[in-house]
Amino acid sequence: MNLHEYQGKEILKSFGVAIQEGIVAETVDQAVDAAKKLQVDTGTPMWVVKAQIHAGGRGKGGGVKLAKTMDDLKEKANDIIGMQLVTPQTGPQGKKVNKVLIAQDVYYPGENEPDEYYMGVLLDRNTGRNIIMYSTEGGMDIEEVADKTPEKIHKEEIDPAVGLQGFQARKIAYNLGLSGKAFKEMCKFVAALYKAYEGTDASMFEINPVLKTSDDKIIAVDSKVNLDDNALYRHPDYAAMRDITEEDPTEVEAGKHNLNFVNLDGNVGCMVNGAGLAMATMDIIKLAGGEPANFLDVGGTADAARVEQAFRIILKDPAVKAILINIFGGIVRCDRVAQGVVDAYKNIGDIPVPIIVRLQGTNAVEAKEIIDNSGLEVHSAILLKEAADLVGKVIKN
Ligand code: GDP
Ligand code: MN
Repeated sequence: MNLHEYQGKEILKSFGVAIQEGIVAETVDQAVDAAKKLQVDTGTPMWVVKAQIHAGGRGKGGGVKLAKTMDDLKEKANDIIGMQLVTPQTGPQGKKVNKVLIAQDVYYPGENEPDEYYMGVLLDRNTGRNIIMYSTEGGMDIEEVADKTPEKIHKEEIDPAVGLQGFQARKIAYNLGLSGKAFKEMCKFVAALYKAYEGTDASMFEINPVLKTSDDKIIAVDSKVNLDDNALYRHPDYAAMRDITEEDPTEVEAGKHNLNFVNLDGNVGCMVNGAGLAMATMDIIKLAGGEPANFLDVGGTADAARVEQAFRIILKDPAVKAILINIFGGIVRCDRVAQGVVDAYKNIGDIPVPIIVRLQGTNAVEAKEIIDNSGLEVHSAILLKEAADLVGKVIKN
């Protein structure tokens, strides 16, 4: 689950990480109140208005603006709230901004180029260990840094048995070129950030930029957080931070029916039981010359109701030219799945794309008979090869 910047910062603060303070607002009036309160609390003479969407690169797209006066703030809040923000990460259609974060200005006026760093804590799936990735090249696109000057990105691996050690935090501060007060502040920052990452069962905490202020404070100016969905049951307060308006509506709908569904760009819809078989099915589709339109694991109970929900979800995608149903009948019997497909087909009425059904396992032959005798426009196969050939044929038409 992804969080907004303001939610990530709230969590960081609760773990003792120093942050750029801010207050979230949904209207211009709320933005003004937030700005006044921040002025009292932090003494800031200016503010930054920051669009809250689940995508980075907001600065580049015009979603982060400095406001020098209260009138200026009203104008910028008014511009940004409700805008369709396009950034390098949103795709060309952009994302609607429902909330802004009114933040204190931490780049003090008259200051020379401020020092901005990059820091991310994430799981390295190759080693199965958490790593802290960091760089002096903060504030810019880290993918670009990784591409052009990979030597400027450092990695510190954390031993899970002992956690982050003091010497590791010092090494990071040293490699970032810090000394004196800023060095000590950075050590505290790294330790608190790692605690936040572990304590929330996160899979990523990315802070870009981490800022060194002119008085040598180290603070998080941005936050990009991804929490592990499988651990959310341990954190009801974080689970409540979910903002489904930021998520793919079809995926949200699928989640309600307990279908494991991921939207993809291709033209062949898939309905499969078991994640491994779903992956293999996607490979088969590619080999047959198609592109999978989705990943969908219907799980163990592929009955008529579930098959129908799955059909409806796949058919929301106008790019779908064919649907491949690939079910292995182990615990579930193929003939019951076949009956489910026929019933679902009849319930939905007109399915505008060809359907290829491949059922293998218990009662596969009976299942094929049910499909073949249904009178519906459904092609059946028992071998995966046959199914792939059918897919290849229908998408070429
Ligand atoms: P992103 O573009 O989505 O990554 O959003 P960020 O929160 O990282 O903000 C983008 C940029 O806005 C930062 O890299 C800074 O250069 C700038 N920025 C953020 N906070 C302040 C601030 O308090 N004052 C000023 N002047 N600029 C800021
Ligand atoms: Mn950023």
